Amino acid sequence: MTEVARGEHGPAQLVFHNDDDTPDEFVIGLLRQVFGKTDREASALIARIEREEKAACGPYPQSVAEALFKSAQQYIWLRQQPLKITLEEIRTPCELCGKPEGQTEVRIGERTVWLCSDCIRAADTTPSPEPEEFEYACDVLDWHFADIARSKLVTTIRQFPGHMRVDVQAAIDRLFSEGIQLFGLNEEQRYETLSISRLLRDGRYAIAIAPLQYSDVDVGERSPVKCLDNGLWLCEQDGLRYAVLLCAHREFSREPGIRIEILVPSGSAGAALVQTCFGELEQAVQAARSYRGKILSLDADSDYRGRSRGITVHRLAPVSRNDVILPEQTLRLLDRNVLTFVDTRDQLRRLGQSTRKGILLYGPPGTGKTHTIRYLATHLPGHTTLIITAEQIGLLGAYMSLARLLQPSMVVIEDVDLIARDRDDMGPCEESMLNKLLNEMDGLKEDADILFVLTTNRPEDLEGALAGRPGRIDQAIEVPLPDETGRGQLVRLYGKGLPLDDTIIAEAAQRSEGTSCAFIKELMRRLAQASLARDGGKSIVSADIDEALDDMLFSGGRLNARLLGGAHAMAAG
Ligand code: ADP
Repeated sequence: MTEVARGEHGPAQLVFHNDDDTPDEFVIGLLRQVFGKTDREASALIARIEREEKAACGPYPQSVAEALFKSAQQYIWLRQQPLKITLEEIRTPCELCGKPEGQTEVRIGERTVWLCSDCIRAADTTPSPEPEEFEYACDVLDWHFADIARSKLVTTIRQFPGHMRVDVQAAIDRLFSEGIQLFGLNEEQRYETLSISRLLRDGRYAIAIAPLQYSDVDVGERSPVKCLDNGLWLCEQDGLRYAVLLCAHREFSREPGIRIEILVPSGSAGAALVQTCFGELEQAVQAARSYRGKILSLDADSDYRGRSRGITVHRLAPVSRNDVILPEQTLRLLDRNVLTFVDTRDQLRRLGQSTRKGILLYGPPGTGKTHTIRYLATHLPGHTTLIITAEQIGLLGAYMSLARLLQPSMVVIEDVDLIARDRDDMGPCEESMLNKLLNEMDGLKEDADILFVLTTNRPEDLEGALAGRPGRIDQAIEVPLPDETGRGQLVRLYGKGLPLDDTIIAEAAQRSEGTSCAFIKELMRRLAQASLARDGGKSIVSADIDEALDDMLFSGGRLNARLLGGAHAMAAG
């Protein structure tokens, strides 16, 4: 198929009008010399002129018709003949689809037909380069949008948080799976952010096509999710061609975001497509399926800017209610202030009450503050838990954005005393971190579904700071050293596999007075060891308790007892 010409106007023809004075030989000469007709064709045309008073030569593309018209007029004028020729535009419908506009003359074998540009594109069998043969992004885009001028293309950009790349990737896979082709791009300048207009540059600044680059992202599942570092999709939907660029949005000293840019032909169809795509991407990010219900921390970057690199998903074993040994009063407070509270959030909201909450868990080390948080995380359906250690408090801003995005969420700040010491022994930097934390807690919207849980071993260091900023902590809950009943329960819990009789359980509970839960857990391991050494683990006797307690509380000195959570017991002893 040969495309003869392509014009903005439709084809045109030259109409020969009959008159009595122009000799036939002149008309034959004109048709032969200017129009390239044979004698037979010329005679046939003359016969038609005489019969029908006029006859047309053509159709020709507009520009060809105009050139022929000029030459013919000159030919007639030079020879002083009265022949009248007119140039007339014709609206020949496309011979395939009947569409009236944008025709192009096409020669198929011996025939010349008029087709619209859509049919030409559909029927074109001329070999065109395969997209995978392209070396540069600009050639790929030019090939994809071959017959659309760059000025008739528009792009729209949307940015998503970098941490959401797994959800963005999943949505992209769903949305653009029908893509004609996907290309990776060579990002030579790691500090630069790619853009479609950047991809359209050619010459020495052209962006080269590169193998697709994937990064593994851990979302706490068995295997990591593969996420593209960048990608250029060429797509087509209902005849509308468009391109999508995915890349990292880099900004100095900020967490890189995910940048999505969609290039479409201008017009309502393109605009609607862009809206649908971004709508779906936003929904996917809001749903945040990959992190919902998990326990996360941000990875602190080693570089000086304190940016965070990614997310760590903690794979913590669920903690059931029976695994948490706390006084009834403490468990009741936890239920009322956390578990029941989140269940009634919707009702509270309807009654115009705030749905955010701040809890302080305080008590000696090893009494189960972290354990309790795991218990809460296990029993807060759909909540995402973010665990911030004191050293990570510099990332508070990033944590809060994530907490807002993943609502309902629980933000845990462990050992908060480390950033909230008394004003007197606080450096200027620490003070600002504490202020920042309290401001973040205060700045949350009343209806934020965010639960703050702060833990400390040193509540007295916090009193001043928190008392000075009331309203941040709604409830302080003491996690005390276990009483004798509690210690008995802990002996049973952590000695589940041991041959313990009631007397030994009572003795272990009584003799471990003043120790922490973590201490009793360790004590049970020592009892198991002592029993194994004595009779292969068949029985546990008082002497095993003597030996274990002696090692843990006395032989190692005060430091050892402190390390194991038995300092109170030692002091009492
Ligand atoms: P804290 O955060 O108060 O210093 P942890 O929660 O880290 O104490 O306790 C250490 C370990 O001791 C826990 O992982 C758990 O196995 C055990 N433990 C501590 N407190 C309890 C408790 N109240 N009930 C059951 N086990 C506990």
